Amino acid sequence: MAALGTPQRPLAVAIVGAGPSGFYAAEALLKAPGLTVRVDLFDRLPTPFGLVRGGVAPDHQKIKSVVAVYEKTAADPRLRFFGAVKLGCDLTAEELAARHDAVIYAVGCESDRHMGIPGEDLAGSHSATEFVGWYNGHPDHRGRTFDLSCGAVAVIGVGNVAMDVTRILSRDAEDLSKTDIAGYALDALRASKVKTVWLLGRRGPAEAAYSPAEIEEIGELSTADLVVDPAKAVVDEVSQGELADPAVKKKVEYVQEHAKKGEGSKERKVRLRFRISPVEIIGENGRVTALRIEKNELVSDGKGGVKAVGAGVFETIPVGLVLRSVGYRGIPIPGVPFDEKSGHIPNVDGRVVAASGKPALPGQYVVGWAKRGPSGLIGTNRADSVATVSSLLADLKAGTLPAATDASLDATLRLLADKKVRALSFADWRKLDVLEKAAGAKTGKIREKFTRVSDMLAALIPQ
Ligand SMILES: Cc1cc2nc3c(=O)[nH]c(=O)nc-3n(C[C@H](O)[C@H](O)[C@H](O)COP(=O)(O)OP(=O)(O)OC[C@H]3O[C@@H](n4cnc5c(N)ncnc54)[C@H](O)[C@@H]3O)c2cc1C
Repeated sequence: MAALGTPQRPLAVAIVGAGPSGFYAAEALLKAPGLTVRVDLFDRLPTPFGLVRGGVAPDHQKIKSVVAVYEKTAADPRLRFFGAVKLGCDLTAEELAARHDAVIYAVGCESDRHMGIPGEDLAGSHSATEFVGWYNGHPDHRGRTFDLSCGAVAVIGVGNVAMDVTRILSRDAEDLSKTDIAGYALDALRASKVKTVWLLGRRGPAEAAYSPAEIEEIGELSTADLVVDPAKAVVDEVSQGELADPAVKKKVEYVQEHAKKGEGSKERKVRLRFRISPVEIIGENGRVTALRIEKNELVSDGKGGVKAVGAGVFETIPVGLVLRSVGYRGIPIPGVPFDEKSGHIPNVDGRVVAASGKPALPGQYVVGWAKRGPSGLIGTNRADSVATVSSLLADLKAGTLPAATDASLDATLRLLADKKVRALSFADWRKLDVLEKAAGAKTGKIREKFTRVSDMLAALIPQ
């Protein structure tokens, strides 16, 4: 047999997940010097771009322009897009491996962590993932309802996703009216009665995970005051070392300066509190009515970091909605290793392992959030995907890639046809893109997204 990766026998790679990490992995493979390669890129949704479409906030449109890079990759004739094909449902991991010499999992972290406190299952208690997916028109979340008739909402966590959620709840809905926000979400936000967003962080201002730009954006909202108690914005003795990091110093100083402004006079308030842990979500008739919180003290964790310890002082704040933003985790896929503790696919340098300490599984790789867990911005995934592709190419060179049983171009097409799976092409996505933009133009929006897979499929049937 001809060597893999040569014109006589091109390397066939499947990438599962068409988010940033999947596209960056495809780009790295297609640009690899001296390699003859073809890439099949799968996504469970008919639409590509992962969290760039379904996660990044509608008021952060500039960030979404990164898709131009992915579109360039998709235009390469050596890449085929298979939209609306879900690994573990429409295809098994073995079926994919039999038709490709290597498989790269780029499936992200689509689930979230729970707080593990009483009342978390009450109506009105949701994950930020659900809320974000809802306002972004993600088909998984479009049918959810959020009671915005309540006066106050608690957002648990102080990372950038918590900032997005807080901003969307607190800003003037008209600011969003020209964006790609889902139409139903815009209507709900226009009618919102939310006046207070409690933003609750477990540790202090030096440990808050938001970036300086994200907290500054909250502080500059025209419709809401960022309110911080100056006494609570101080940095504890145990956290002083963190100020050596200029980014930490910047965001601490910003919050401390802002704390001097007091209550302000804007209609809405974002009340940022540090050293707080939720301990119970309280409800009546099955619905959230309040959140019981405990004040924390910060102590050294003995590893150079800081941990929060309950101080035994409790308080109850009335809220009608609780949105937890305490971390994302992956969703296990049948036939693909998954580490329950870390919540992602176990790997060494992007090579998938069955479990920590076990040898690499030949021909299986992972990139992006599925590899590292939910950390890093869109750009972080580029270097990370390049690193995984380097591992793959080193294995190709070392001759340790298991050649596919049938790597022919039509092997996957035949399999999908046999299984009666209708895969959408990138050309199909381009048609949807045009239709969304045209629908948006009618009301002055960037686009009006399709939010139901059935509507997308129906729109693609020739009239
Ligand atoms: C709410 C939110 C806002 C963010 N905002 C920003 C921002 O403003 N700026 C920034 O730089 N970064 C932002 N990020 C981070 C950024 O989105 C991530 O770094 C990036 O999307 C991770 O890329 P990924 O490809 O690993 O995962 P994802 O983007 O999640 O892509 C995973 C893809 O895999 C597909 N998939 C999952 N399971 C399967 C399966 N079984 N079969 C087939 N396909 C599957 C999914 O449909 C999805 O398309 C944000 C993240 C979140 C959660």
